[in-house]
Amino acid sequence: MLMMLPRNRSRSVKRVFVRTQSGRTTIHFKKERPHRAHCRICGAVLGGVNSVRGVAKSEKVPTRIFAGQLCAGCAGEIVKIRSRVALGEMKIEEASLAQREFVKMMK
Ligand SMILES: [Zn+2]
Repeated sequence: MLMMLPRNRSRSVKRVFVRTQSGRTTIHFKKERPHRAHCRICGAVLGGVNSVRGVAKSEKVPTRIFAGQLCAGCAGEIVKIRSRVALGEMKIEEASLAQREFVKMMK
């Protein structure tokens, strides 16, 4: 391993190989930024969710049901399916596989 600062030996630090003007290739280190949270059903980017470290969960995620997991639309669908199944108007098998997982969580 080349001589590098201990903090740059971590695999959470990304290595970018940069070719300099003199033709030499040097390594630049970049801290990988966290990915934005996406809805687990439709894949939409979740609003109001930030991944800042060192702050309380209540500061990172809204307090709605399935916050940080599902978008508001998909969470609403789950609540509807849940009550329809409870009332016997719908069978859980009629919901999609992804939805079933969350309906079961509500019980
Ligand atoms: Zn969604």
